[in-house]
Amino acid sequence: MSVPDLAERLDSVRERIAAAVVRGGHGQTVRIVAVTKTFGAETVRAAWENGVRDVGENRVQEALRKMDAVELPVTWHLIGHLQRNKVAALNRFDLVHSLDSPRLADAVNVLGSQRGRPVEALLQVSIVGEETKGGYDVSGVAAEAKRLAGMSGIRLKGVMTMAPLEADDGLLRQVFQGARRARDLLAAAGHPATELSMGMSNDFEIAVEEGATIVRLGTVLFGAR
Ligand SMILES: *Cc1c(COP(=O)(O)O)cnc(C)c1O
Repeated sequence: MSVPDLAERLDSVRERIAAAVVRGGHGQTVRIVAVTKTFGAETVRAAWENGVRDVGENRVQEALRKMDAVELPVTWHLIGHLQRNKVAALNRFDLVHSLDSPRLADAVNVLGSQRGRPVEALLQVSIVGEETKGGYDVSGVAAEAKRLAGMSGIRLKGVMTMAPLEADDGLLRQVFQGARRARDLLAAAGHPATELSMGMSNDFEIAVEEGATIVRLGTVLFGAR
């Protein structure tokens, strides 16, 4: 993709986000995580040259290859499912959005404890109970919030959610409001949970209206994969 085209797309997305913040009334700051999966290192560099500092990848191996090729101080986000035997890869990421099970949390906690610096993570929540999406359902969040409060190897900064692809506006709002409540529940349990990672290319404006602090955008910036 040519850099001028990306600059225009970013401008337009930033304007749409700013308008959605005003409509939603939450007054939050919104970070764009540029999702570069399936694109090469040159796409990461183009994003960087246009002021993007946060980049998201959903597969560990693909991400590590790009990190080695790019050599820029990018803030790297892991947004896809992580297998427990690959937690060591989190040493290369700044924030993992996809803490999606108690067993993964245990493995991440071991990593953070052993290295002496907690892993920054978001709890992935599944609000409408789609089994394929993974993550904690609403009833599981409270129990896990309490358990995670005792883990010095994890610093829980908020929640991430994905809405169903075919959701109408009403369902989207239900999902995003549910995620916001889950985030507030973590905060009430003593976690430094300020982040709400929700909103992709097709639903980010509604997510921002509902309080998203991080939007994860691929297609709207880089075109179809
Ligand atoms: C691919 C992906 C995105 C970006 O999707 P787009 O619709 O292309 O913006 C966001 N979040 C996750 C978890 C993804 O896997």
